[in-house]
Amino acid sequence: MQNTTTPAVPDLFAKARGHERAAIMAAAQAADVLPYFRTLTSPALPVVSMEGVERIMLGSNNYLGLTSDPRVLQGARDALETYGTGLTGSRLLNGTIPLHLELEERIASWMSTESALVFTTGHQANLGVLGTLLAPGDTVVVDSGDHASILDGCLLSKAKLRAFKHNRLGRLERQLERAAQDGGGVLVVVDGVFSMEGDIAPLPEIAALAERHGARLMVDEAHGAGVLGARGAGTAELFGVEDSVDLRMGTFSKSLASCGGFVAGPAEVIEFLRISSRSFLFTASAVPAAVGAALAALEVIDSPDGPPLLQAVLDNARYLRDGLEERGFAVVAAQNLGGRVPGQTDIVTPIVPVLVGDDWKAALLWRALYDAGVFVNTALHPAVPPGGALLRTSVMATHSRPTLDRALEAFTAVKAAFESEHGPLLGPGAHP
Ligand code: PMP
Repeated sequence: MQNTTTPAVPDLFAKARGHERAAIMAAAQAADVLPYFRTLTSPALPVVSMEGVERIMLGSNNYLGLTSDPRVLQGARDALETYGTGLTGSRLLNGTIPLHLELEERIASWMSTESALVFTTGHQANLGVLGTLLAPGDTVVVDSGDHASILDGCLLSKAKLRAFKHNRLGRLERQLERAAQDGGGVLVVVDGVFSMEGDIAPLPEIAALAERHGARLMVDEAHGAGVLGARGAGTAELFGVEDSVDLRMGTFSKSLASCGGFVAGPAEVIEFLRISSRSFLFTASAVPAAVGAALAALEVIDSPDGPPLLQAVLDNARYLRDGLEERGFAVVAAQNLGGRVPGQTDIVTPIVPVLVGDDWKAALLWRALYDAGVFVNTALHPAVPPGGALLRTSVMATHSRPTLDRALEAFTAVKAAFESEHGPLLGPGAHP
């Protein structure tokens, strides 16, 4: 008789049960300090309703506050009315509408590049660019703080991955020297503004090093575009090195108040990606409302209303950063630009992280702030290095000063209550 016993194959689903992250989440949920998956019950505004309670939103990426701008709402509405709820197909086949082409032209002109390509999300843009341009035999050099989607794209490409310690130029140079011996093409990829700590990459030095070692340079401007530079074109514009950056990636899910992503660069590379990039070709095009909203947001940034908004978000960031520092919190210092940007000695970005260190302390503080009517994001390991837990606060151009003052008061009260029970928090000058 044939042996029909099932072979002893490990249960693939076992990892879902014994998962370390699941255990931590369960413990945090039991203690009611889980900072994730809280439900937003209103539009994304400076003050939102979350789980039915009014809270100051210091945890969005809606840097210019454009998600509620009437022009952006109208852009989404018009696109919805004209093209319907969805395009039900890829850009290649049936998912390209005139709004995509207009958006691509506008992005190219905004970024001062020959051409641009619009993806359904920023994550897919990074996958599509890196997974297509890089191949086995090539080398990609990344900052250890780069966004997960950059790492995903690099892994997809199977190129040799060489990481350097966050913003350490000496380490970058060593990796570039090694990369030059690897035998393939070399690409350096950095975030312009790092998403958790809100610090910026020293692009003039990075661009010079890349050039000296024959490498191409790509900058992820997810948190820089719509924030930095006179046109809001990002970190490369701020530093005046747009000509030295080969590819600039960005997303619509932050300042552009929508959802989607782009890459901008030389026409030959963009056209290559347009016909070869799998995360572009084999996914549905964004819904028309998302494209219409992004286009309208870009029009606002390009209009005379743009520069005051760009100024307002950075002014608000500085106000919150200084206020938190005065109240004894460990905030990341405004970055010294060392004369590299004419007329500016230092810079803040809309991301103002409060360094806490310990994961549980961060979760407890998060909860206390939540109860006091302030929503912030928490970044725990592995989003940050071990022992580097932080509360990631971020501002919008549309936060009013009284609202920011109320948030600062909540921080003060929470700090006093927390320290009386758990001892001192990290103070100014602590480093991640
Ligand atoms: N790059 C960075 C630096 C990001 O922060 C993000 C989003 N958090 C992305 C890429 C991905 O963008 P999207 O949300 O459009 O997928």
